[in-house]
Amino acid sequence: MAVPRNRTSNARKNSRRSHHAKTPKNLAACPNCREMRLSHRICPHCGHYAGRSVAAK
Ligand SMILES: [Zn+2]
Repeated sequence: MAVPRNRTSNARKNSRRSHHAKTPKNLAACPNCREMRLSHRICPHCGHYAGRSVAAK
C-alpha cells in the first residue's frame, strides 16, 4: 500500500476541507397545511404530495 511521503500541513488539510461545509436544508411550506417540509418529499404533517393524500394516517 502506498504511504504518504510528507505530512499534510494544517493549511493544506484545512484548505482541502474548505469545500466540506453543509448547506442548509431546503424547506418549503406545504400547500395543504402550510407546515414547513422538505421540498420533493411527502409532507410529514399531513401526508400530502403533489396536491393529494399519499400516506395513510
Ligand atoms: Zn402538509
